Amino acid sequence: MKDWSHILTHEGEDKEKYYNAIVPPIIQSSNFSFPSVEAFREGFRNELDGSIYTRGNNPTVAILRKKMAALEGSEDALVLASGSAAIAAAIIGNLSAGDHIICVQKPYSWTFKLLDQFLTRFGVEHSFVDGRSIAEIEAAIRPNTKVLMLESPNSLTFEIQDLKACAQLAQQHDITTIIDNSYASPYYQNPIDYGIDIVLHSGTKYLGGHSDVVFGVICAAKPMIQKIFSSEYMTLGACISPNDAWLVLRGLRTLPIRLEKISATTEKVVQFLKNHPKVDSVLYPFDKDFPQYDLAKSQMRGAGGLFSVNFKAESIEQMENFSNRLAKFFQFAVSWGGHESLQIPTCVFYNLQPNETPPLPFTFVRYYVGLEEPAYLIDKLSKALELL
Ligand SMILES: *Cc1c(COP(=O)(O)O)cnc(C)c1O
Repeated sequence: MKDWSHILTHEGEDKEKYYNAIVPPIIQSSNFSFPSVEAFREGFRNELDGSIYTRGNNPTVAILRKKMAALEGSEDALVLASGSAAIAAAIIGNLSAGDHIICVQKPYSWTFKLLDQFLTRFGVEHSFVDGRSIAEIEAAIRPNTKVLMLESPNSLTFEIQDLKACAQLAQQHDITTIIDNSYASPYYQNPIDYGIDIVLHSGTKYLGGHSDVVFGVICAAKPMIQKIFSSEYMTLGACISPNDAWLVLRGLRTLPIRLEKISATTEKVVQFLKNHPKVDSVLYPFDKDFPQYDLAKSQMRGAGGLFSVNFKAESIEQMENFSNRLAKFFQFAVSWGGHESLQIPTCVFYNLQPNETPPLPFTFVRYYVGLEEPAYLIDKLSKALELL
């Protein structure tokens, strides 16, 4: 068990360096000077751990890197300008022209585009597979497969991969395993414990936790972090600003209490919806009827605030009316992980583009539960459900 209290209160913080201030300062400086040629030379020798220039490393960002590595149990971590920047840097860092990557079906939309549209321009092949089946992953392995990209669970329909089995299979074939761990956060799942090589986060979600910062994280062993740092991190230059890193440090202090509260509320909301006559089904990894419930329980400590519902509705208009009735209480918005409850009703994708049928029915809604009280949310849902 990780020492959350130590990590979130003390890890990486060296107060004597900044007047014993309880809160670390925002070192809002792009550049750092050295007292001598020898010290300057030493700075160039280890840019990853020192402070030369803020595109590489910055003292405020360095505190966040240490906390993120401790939270995931990795040797080191990099913090980037967005989750997508972290995904791109980690994937590109482990591929060259002529290589092949296997990725789970239905990953985050920009992960899909990175493989399907961006990397194909540079001669990288890909296969999307049903990650629920180890046999299907194994069957997709080619002699030039270099990366297995996982996302467990994903953030819409929550398919889960057996992390230990994936890591073992990949190791046998010398394949690097990468996981997008945004859904669970490090508080609820630590893939490195199962042998996964690289753990990524859209920190924009639970880690920042207040819907006010966009950032991403890469956690891995030191040689992997050094490799990505010296190439993709420095070359593509998607660093986080010191100011944003400071906001994240503030948000992180309450990660456990936010997630405990969100999970407890979500369980009650899910139970209410499951028993409602207008609900066809609920998808939530920690619900006993979830198809991969046992696997979810075996590798995750909690499931947080994201779940999806399939309602019994007759028409798109009915779903629109029902969803609109909730607009103030489950706000219409993408993303998740902040203090406020949200919804993405699939009916929004109907009548969006001509001749395009969305893959999910108009009766399907993805919800995120924030820090509101369960009785408050259930009351609003209950009233809106009268419209169905
Ligand atoms: C939001 C999200 C991302 C992208 O992160 P950004 O910080 O928006 O770039 C990647 N993966 C998952 C699962 C996400 O939810």
